[in-house]
Amino acid sequence: GLDLDGAYAWIASFQRRFEAEATELGELDRRAGDGDFGANIRRALRRVERRLDEAPPSAPGELFLGVAHGFLNTGGTSGPLFGLWFRGIGQASDAPAMTLAELAKGVDVGTATVQRLGKARPGDKTMVDAMAPAADALAAAVADGLNVAGGIALAADAARAGALATESMRARRGRAAYVGDVARGVLDPGALTVALFFDSALA
Ligand code: ADP
Ligand code: MG
Ligand code: MG
Repeated sequence: GLDLDGAYAWIASFQRRFEAEATELGELDRRAGDGDFGANIRRALRRVERRLDEAPPSAPGELFLGVAHGFLNTGGTSGPLFGLWFRGIGQASDAPAMTLAELAKGVDVGTATVQRLGKARPGDKTMVDAMAPAADALAAAVADGLNVAGGIALAADAARAGALATESMRARRGRAAYVGDVARGVLDPGALTVALFFDSALA
């Protein structure tokens, strides 16, 4: 399973890799929205760091709840939505090591919550386009009896493919929906960030 050290390493890697791509992701948001995506998520990740220092978790589920806390208190559309997603993941496990089945369940519940509150469906050019295929891949990995690393690798591939598919989509949710066809040809930064998150577990 994914133990506390593994969960810490995952989040630390996610933060490092996001920092490296924040400008580029913000540029995508500028082309299809208002350009603050990189800054919003960087701010959320700094809040996460502070939260984990102030209230050190003792299990991976609790760590993801701390991540959720940081994101939920951040502005922008993506902050609260990612916060709800991470809360779903965190609530799925209270064991010292999170199993793949718990991670799969958490991603599924978190994705359903994001879809319920954001009203985006797959194909609307949002973070859901990476979350939903990742949830499906994790469920399939559980059914196939894979270990956590194997399941996350499949989720990372599925999330990446889903994120890349947003390029040709016309947005039906979020600011990108206001610009119509202008957003076509622009990858969705929220979906790319979901792919980056799963990739970060493997690095
Ligand atoms: P904004 O500046 O529009 O408040 P951000 O720049 O923080 O929002 O985040 C933009 C990202 O949020 C998009 O790339 C998209 O993935 C995601 N997003 C926007 N609206 C929705 C929605 N209704 N449901 C799911 N994701 C959404
Ligand atoms: Mg924005
Ligand atoms: Mg904004």
